[in-house]
Amino acid sequence: MSLSLTFHGAAGTVTGSCFRLSTPAGDVLIDCGMFQGTKTIRELNYRPFPFDPSAIRAVLLTHAHIDHSGLLPKLTKLGFRGRIYATGGTVDLLEYMLPDSGYIQEGEVERLNRRNRQRGRPPVQAIYTQDDAIRSLRRLRRIEYDRWTDILPGLRARFWQAGHILGSASIEVEVSNGTAEPTRILFSGDLGPGGKSFHADAEAPERPDWMVLETTYGDRDRTDLDEAGRQAVLRAEVSTALAAGGVLLIPVFAVERTQELLYDLDCLFDSGQLPAVDVFLDSPLADAVTGVFRRHLDDLETDGDPFTRANFHHVRGVPESQRLNSIAGGAIVMAASGMCDAGRIRHHLKNRLWRPQDTVLLVGYQAPGTLGRLLQEGTPRVRIHGEEIAVKAKVRSIDVYSGHADRTALLDWVNARHGVGHGLFLVHGEDAARASIRQALLDKGWAAERIAQPALDDRVDLAAPRPLAPADRHPRLAAAGLAGLDWHNHYAEALLSLRRTLDAAPDDAARERILAGVMGALNSDGEAAKGTQP
Ligand SMILES: [Zn+2]
Repeated sequence: MSLSLTFHGAAGTVTGSCFRLSTPAGDVLIDCGMFQGTKTIRELNYRPFPFDPSAIRAVLLTHAHIDHSGLLPKLTKLGFRGRIYATGGTVDLLEYMLPDSGYIQEGEVERLNRRNRQRGRPPVQAIYTQDDAIRSLRRLRRIEYDRWTDILPGLRARFWQAGHILGSASIEVEVSNGTAEPTRILFSGDLGPGGKSFHADAEAPERPDWMVLETTYGDRDRTDLDEAGRQAVLRAEVSTALAAGGVLLIPVFAVERTQELLYDLDCLFDSGQLPAVDVFLDSPLADAVTGVFRRHLDDLETDGDPFTRANFHHVRGVPESQRLNSIAGGAIVMAASGMCDAGRIRHHLKNRLWRPQDTVLLVGYQAPGTLGRLLQEGTPRVRIHGEEIAVKAKVRSIDVYSGHADRTALLDWVNARHGVGHGLFLVHGEDAARASIRQALLDKGWAAERIAQPALDDRVDLAAPRPLAPADRHPRLAAAGLAGLDWHNHYAEALLSLRRTLDAAPDDAARERILAGVMGALNSDGEAAKGTQP
């Protein structure tokens, strides 16, 4: 039986999840996510797919996060005519998330094209529009957890609770051609940490032939906290921020993190552990998603509706959002996106980062190159919308809200599968995280030849005698471009550092000397670059 798997995303990086399974019945995708992080990585979203979208027969979607679902509208726009299978929770979330993503793409391209016009460069097209996103929603089909669904002749799938976000699933795919034993491949999707307020712990079948494992937190163990422990951490951060007399700004992920924070704040206000200060949820998407959670209260492991109270305010229009700028202190503002790379949070950061009495609380994973990561690493100045802002506000990070299993939980999940028939692919993690999980498995007695760390666009032939070695390697981007910072980040750093040096110079004559030195270096570098050309 011909059977191969190609890693079109989340290989050598965390984002852009997309695996193409080629079977005798046709090709299916597991996830079709957007790349996030540096400009170099995001540029992949604008390029053609490395496969023909019209030749894809179906998509199996693990969950609604944009790095898993965000290129579905592009896939549909470019000719995909099959069905997209997902759980009810995922379908309900996508109804808001994909159009929102289309809206963000349109806005980004509009800004980019304004700059392109000024610089005399040709305009670029949005990856997809809000209308494209709405059209792609028609391809969605709801399926139940724990039940086999026939996808194509000889290919069926079963979705398992992944405990990561509302609707999240690990997906078991079974491929058969009627003669040999069927092949079972288990895609972990993103795995939750266990002990979440809203969802049951992850579960999955035993001993698949192949396993594809996420490793986001593969090199980190967090202190495992129960609900009360987590709320105590939040309470301490909120109390300190309020005592400083400023506003507490929380960049949030619209899905799950927002609702967990609202839930915990609701508990802390109710029990009197925090004064019932105003909480402004300034994200139309987070607001809509909270509505989806409200509709799924029966599926959530919680009593009553923790998302509605007198001091929770939902900010809708832009003028209302701008009015929040005038609040001097004693309030919490939550806005998306969680990594500060888009959305209303950037306006709030621009308005508040320079105020020493304000606090920014980071509550989730920050990808390299994002504004959130720069803040987390303590950068003293940042550029937002082309303006330079000094960071005087306190920047705090807590990791008790992660939606991801940590190192121990990932290894427990693998252990609970009691091994694999053939092999395990480590994906969806920076290289250090993948290496750490690999080492832990070797220590547990796994054979090295059963564990692979595929690179971007690697294809492996699952029917070959040594299937873990890539059969094809045609990366759209080399590993170096996928990891760490890119030249755009370094350019921003260089500009800031030049500015700092000029500011610190004793007088204008010294500044002229510094600039002459920089220009001299640039000219000789330019000559050197020309000299290397054939
Ligand atoms: Zn996720």
